[in-house]
Amino acid sequence: MEQSFEVVIIGGGPAGLTAGLYVSRARLSAVLIEKAIFGGQITNTERIENYPGFPEGISGFDLGQLMYEQATKYGLETVAAEVTGVDLSDRDRKVVRTDQGDYMAGALIIAGGAQYNKLNVPGEEGLLGKGVSYCATCDGAFFRDQVVAVVGGGDSAVEEALVLTRFASKVIVIHRRDELRASKLHQERAFANPKMEFLWDSVVEAIVGPDRVQGLVVRNVKTNQKTDVAVSGVFVYVGLHPQTDYLKGGAIPLDEDGRILTGQGMETEIPGVFAAGDIRKNSPRQAIVAAGEGATAAISAERFLLERP
Ligand code: NAP
Repeated sequence: MEQSFEVVIIGGGPAGLTAGLYVSRARLSAVLIEKAIFGGQITNTERIENYPGFPEGISGFDLGQLMYEQATKYGLETVAAEVTGVDLSDRDRKVVRTDQGDYMAGALIIAGGAQYNKLNVPGEEGLLGKGVSYCATCDGAFFRDQVVAVVGGGDSAVEEALVLTRFASKVIVIHRRDELRASKLHQERAFANPKMEFLWDSVVEAIVGPDRVQGLVVRNVKTNQKTDVAVSGVFVYVGLHPQTDYLKGGAIPLDEDGRILTGQGMETEIPGVFAAGDIRKNSPRQAIVAAGEGATAAISAERFLLERP
């Protein structure tokens, strides 16, 4: 099955949905392909306090739903499918291959975002869903009155650790350095919370089961001393990687981390192909920036389609 549009958008997070809003309001026929949940990563965030227009904050899930409603109001089509490859060799007919069929368009906007990294330590895979989680907002309530660990020192780790303090009796943040990377506001909240503890200069070497998480083997990177830490759950927030595996055959230039290189108009080196949001090199990985980049990519795509011979 093949379907043709003027624009194909890959990814239904803030970047893709905003691009969809703009191209459909420009009366371009467009389809947005999303493999998981519309709204993307923000749907895992309990409360977003830095998206303008919501002075009291808004749940990430609700913001994703509102973006989806607004984007589809003007005729944007959406499809639940996983992209498996692209063929960008024909300037006027880009092909996006998915597990549900192929989609053709004159312009392509890639906004597939990023996914959480794993620790890649023993026990992580086998105990997934049995105490190992990458989403405190989704799984926090299972750990009422229990001790849990959060691995990482960035905004995600601290924000999600704070969510967990509402359920857990204690939240131990395990960070490989002796200072957090998270924003100052998050740090202030974390240090003021009596349920939070910090294990500095420490890395997790193993997650211990066997049937459910019982503890962690933690190594101090300065002394090399190993300690057993008893926890019932571990939440991993050690950064993200872009979802560009299907582009790695050389279809489009990527940086060493697999992120897409773009110019100021979100254009890539391939005419008619644009990228927006966390998938892009140097994107600051904020929902509001992703939305802005999605709008820019859409305006550039519209211009490309109008100006092509
Ligand atoms: P991040 O900023 O890349 O932080 C990742 C953290 O994990 C760092 O503290 C890093 O340590 C640590 N780490 C990386 N690899 C590790 C490993 N193998 N073992 C142990 N620790 C490891 O990722 P993020 O926190 O997911 O945030 C991603 C982006 O989204 C950031 O730009 C962030 O500001 C943004 N964000 C914003 C908000 C908000 O504004 N409310 C919320 C969430 C995320 P080092 O510090 O030593 O490198």
